[in-house]
Amino acid sequence: MTPDFRKKLIDWGAEVERPLPWKGIRDPYKIWLSEILLQQTRAAQGLPYYLKFVERFPTVTDLASAEDDEVMKLWEGLGYYARARNLLKAARLVAFEMNGRFPDTYEGLRQLPGVGPYTAAAIASFAYDAPHAVLDGNVFRVLSRFTGLAEPVDTTAGRKRFEELAQSTLDAARPAAYNQAIMDFGAMCCTPQNPLCRQCPVSEHCRALAEGTVSDLPLKSKSIVKRERFFHYLVVEQAGKVLISRREGKDIWNGLYEFPLLELPALTTALDVLQSDAGWNEILQNTDALVASVSPPFRQTLTHRFVTAIFFEIRPRQEIVLPEDSRFLWIEREKLSKFAFPKIIDRYLKDNVFNLCLAL
Ligand code: SF4
Repeated sequence: MTPDFRKKLIDWGAEVERPLPWKGIRDPYKIWLSEILLQQTRAAQGLPYYLKFVERFPTVTDLASAEDDEVMKLWEGLGYYARARNLLKAARLVAFEMNGRFPDTYEGLRQLPGVGPYTAAAIASFAYDAPHAVLDGNVFRVLSRFTGLAEPVDTTAGRKRFEELAQSTLDAARPAAYNQAIMDFGAMCCTPQNPLCRQCPVSEHCRALAEGTVSDLPLKSKSIVKRERFFHYLVVEQAGKVLISRREGKDIWNGLYEFPLLELPALTTALDVLQSDAGWNEILQNTDALVASVSPPFRQTLTHRFVTAIFFEIRPRQEIVLPEDSRFLWIEREKLSKFAFPKIIDRYLKDNVFNLCLAL
């Protein structure tokens, strides 16, 4: 993770600040109150409750002194009433056993009823600038996509990886600004559906964007069903040159080179199916060509998909002339090693199948 990532997020956060009354404040009571109210609750829904509570109970001692029934009544409509009961328990602990002073360390905050790792990190960083990274759904999503970390977020091992990643990513010099920025960024830019990648300040180094996995991440253990993809490559050689093109777009292997590709829902060696495809017709142009060989299937396992590739080695009997604006390039076969190919094509080339074919 680059320092640039932290700086860009914090700069982004400063520009798009969401004006909410608990943001940017240092009062641990109000920060704690807002965090408890917002657990499992959207900010827009929690806002009127926060305003009511702060008005009625300006200090933790006011809240601790309230009747249970009054607090439950004010909480009405928010659901998850265990939160309200913990709120009162924690308020009374702070008010009557800690002289009204909130603990000022992460560990101390964790002793309060209803305060889990996320809430303790949020209060510690926002109120005291303590270097503890928050890890909520937004942060999981941003970190998973930006780094391409495809660990499930709902397993113990996966959570641990993300905790380590979040902590090592934190801007320890500016934990409050960084924590706020990454959560806002997840809520407003790197959203679960239709993230705003075009406006994203860190898109240049986003692994998920480069690998076409934005919509797959973050992973949940139940959703790890590897998708099968079937690639059919046309290896056409003419006068010692081979046709390749550069992969573009948001799919896997963006920026790498490959032979003309036809992706189908299943593997096929039925040449008539393949030759009838518009993409291959663009190249073959009804040219009379000899299919020199069909490779065995090559397989590559990616984080959440399997790719099976099969290579059709073609030698045209007439010269193929491509339009000037064609995205395909003729490359001398000795020079292929200068281009970056996906591993599955590298293996095919190294297996000599290709050279044997060309030597026919
Ligand atoms: S490029 Fe898109 S997926 Fe990647 S961090 Fe930015 S918004 Fe999220």
